[in-house]
Amino acid sequence: MTGSTIQNPTDTLDRPLRDLRISVTDRCNFRCGYCMPREIFGKGYQFLRQDQLLSFEEITRLVRLFAGFGVRKLRLTGGEPLLRREITSLIEMLAGVDGIDDIAMTTNASLLTRERTQALLDAGLGRLNISLDALDPAVHARINEVDTPLDAVLDGIDNALGEGFSSVKINMVVQKGINEGEIIPMVERFRHSGAILRFIEFMDVGNHNQWSLDQVFTANEIIRLIDARYPVEPVEANYHGEVARRWRFRDGGGEVGVISSISQPFCRDCSRARLSAIGELYTCLFATAGHDFRDLLRSGASDAQIAQRIDSLWRARDDRYSEERLQGLGRPRQKGGSVKVEMSYIGG
Ligand code: SF4
Repeated sequence: MTGSTIQNPTDTLDRPLRDLRISVTDRCNFRCGYCMPREIFGKGYQFLRQDQLLSFEEITRLVRLFAGFGVRKLRLTGGEPLLRREITSLIEMLAGVDGIDDIAMTTNASLLTRERTQALLDAGLGRLNISLDALDPAVHARINEVDTPLDAVLDGIDNALGEGFSSVKINMVVQKGINEGEIIPMVERFRHSGAILRFIEFMDVGNHNQWSLDQVFTANEIIRLIDARYPVEPVEANYHGEVARRWRFRDGGGEVGVISSISQPFCRDCSRARLSAIGELYTCLFATAGHDFRDLLRSGASDAQIAQRIDSLWRARDDRYSEERLQGLGRPRQKGGSVKVEMSYIGG
């Protein structure tokens, strides 16, 4: 299988399998309310044990099989992926997989020291998405419910911008009534910085973030707010299926993006699969059921058997949760019950 691309399977909505997001841990050193509220993920919460996690060899074997189906892009997520020890070793292994030409990571940057940033780059990491929801320390602390100083994140961002990553994006989840007042300060901080600032509509991920539509500050509202101060114009997508809608400052100040899962869903172009840290495959961020691969890996299944499972799961995929949510079909239809997987478990 290695090196040979098998027919790129498409799902029931004719979407190819292109991107694999890999959660390497369910642990995080932040407790952002929209993802991992402290009252649920606080004291006494049972995180995954080390022996439950897929090993780097198991992850790499799966990635090799996914690459056989045409996956080219990987994103390492968590929880907070920098909490997984020796993560640079995994990146080196993944960078050696035939067909994989783009390895990215989503991090809160609080652990992104200069040395670690260089080590990630040397290992083969190409792109960084950094989560930052406010520049006001009080608002920042209110959102992530930990006392990690904001400066640790800002220093991490500076370290990332100082290195040779092909792109550094700053992801801000906008919650009406909590941090929309931070949009312009964030724009002013990151215009001309080389980082691409992306605003994410607050989503009903998982089961505990008390989401409601009236807390959503929509993509159109965000762009109107920015355009009034710093005129912007729309830009073509970099590639088909790009998640963010792109806008650039007319004065050359750089680019911003908006990710509009609520107001303008993009399910029709969704080519993303997600792997949990214990080897369950999820075909949608809002899925209620995953498909176990760890037992296959640990029970001596052949590459062909595992590949067959990937192929049949993807071909049967019909997820379009955000579209259904918008179509107001009440609670979107979900296979296998109504408890959604937690975002901290499979990464955003
Ligand atoms: S809701 Fe599911 S199918 Fe739609 S874009 Fe998000 S992950 Fe893809």
